[in-house]
Amino acid sequence: MTDKPLPVPNADTKEFWEGCAQGELRLQRCRACGAAQFPPRALCATCHASSPVWERASGRGRIVSHTRVHRPPSPAFKADVPYSVALVALEEGPRLMVTLRGGAEPRIGDAVRVGFDPPAGPDGIALPHAIILEAP
Ligand SMILES: [Zn+2]
Repeated sequence: MTDKPLPVPNADTKEFWEGCAQGELRLQRCRACGAAQFPPRALCATCHASSPVWERASGRGRIVSHTRVHRPPSPAFKADVPYSVALVALEEGPRLMVTLRGGAEPRIGDAVRVGFDPPAGPDGIALPHAIILEAP
């Protein structure tokens, strides 16, 4: 069995992955224009100001798009297929591509909350996932 590939934190993403390991979704926010952004980077993607600050995100969002994966991207994922992947628009604005957990059939517009897989690998990476919330 092959281990699944995991992200390797770098200077831009370290804070994000530390948050995930603590069960906290973190986004960057620009001090100059107020834009929230993901993925993390050294500059604001909207106005190019430097040093965006980290904040805890709500972890709430809605499904913008989704797909069902039937063919594993590598042998390491063979036991996981089929599984669903969703593009989630977070309440704060940025979009996040995550695996859907919980088995519910996804629909565009469904409300989700972000959760985290158990930490894995030498860096203790806890991958974010999304769970569809019950309809109100
Ligand atoms: Zn900005």
